[in-house]
Amino acid sequence: MIQLYIPLNFLGVLYREIKQSLTDLDKMFTLMEREREVADKPGAQPLRGGDWTVRFEHVTFAYEPARTILHDVSFEIPAGKTVAVVGPSGSGKSTLARLLYRFYDVQQGRITIAGQDVREVTQASVRQAIGIVPQDTVLFNDTVEYNIAYGRPGASRDEVVEVARASRIHDFIASTPKGYDTMVGERGLKLSGGEKQRVAIARTLLKDPPILIFDEATSALDSANERAIQAELKSAAQYKTTLVIAHRLSTVVDAHEILVMEAGRIIERGTHQALLARNGRYAEMWALQQSAEGERFTEVMGM
Ligand code: ATP
Repeated sequence: MIQLYIPLNFLGVLYREIKQSLTDLDKMFTLMEREREVADKPGAQPLRGGDWTVRFEHVTFAYEPARTILHDVSFEIPAGKTVAVVGPSGSGKSTLARLLYRFYDVQQGRITIAGQDVREVTQASVRQAIGIVPQDTVLFNDTVEYNIAYGRPGASRDEVVEVARASRIHDFIASTPKGYDTMVGERGLKLSGGEKQRVAIARTLLKDPPILIFDEATSALDSANERAIQAELKSAAQYKTTLVIAHRLSTVVDAHEILVMEAGRIIERGTHQALLARNGRYAEMWALQQSAEGERFTEVMGM
């Protein structure tokens, strides 16, 4: 029996290893697939820094020719300011982020960073200038330290600990028996959505890019975690040009401008106060979120 068990057990381990490698490969190919969507122009130069203003000018975009997703979208994020995007699921919020990161090229209009069309400069330099805190952070099957230091390979342990503290994930890490050497990911310690997002914030703090994209998690976090993440985000976003895709209106109150999207169009825009005074769609969403039904807001709005 034992003779049979060992090979079977070994096969089981092998199967899991192969399956995991295939999953990792799959992720890699998905990323490469996206990479192939756009290519650098011959002789493209790196993005020149300076004033990190981001501009969308009359952007029209379709993933597939038959279905236009964004219609004539224009807005500006002045250097160091935060613009927030709200709207129902499928209205095109994440597409804005994907275009800014240049996963795809626009069909009409243009996107500029520091006055340069993102299609004219190298993709690598655009991505170097932007830090993304995604909704669902992919963690590597490696140590906590590796996962944070990924933001800036070569960062020292002290630097990793410093950003982990700032992202309020240090105490949690320190409470595990192996601390920063704890393995995370599918084969290690499982982190909650909020903990993963804090690892992503720590990574981004290490990268310290001039432009930030924050895709707020749709999944409900407990309110203490949510407040901690929002406070951290606010301090991370200070002095950075920031695009926030918001699912909770409380996140957007202080934004320089709020864009309300519906079916790929900006239907309202302004500051929180101006939008409330306008008494339109945003005011309606806000009232709904404030009301006793607030907890059901996410479901009702399909956000
Ligand atoms: P959510 O709040 O649910 O994240 P969203 O407002 O961010 O939604 P997007 O992810 O920008 O919405 O999607 C806008 C539309 O584009 C949706 O109808 C979606 O089905 C479509 N879409 C997104 N990605 C692709 C893709 N890779 N290929 C084809 N269509 C896509």
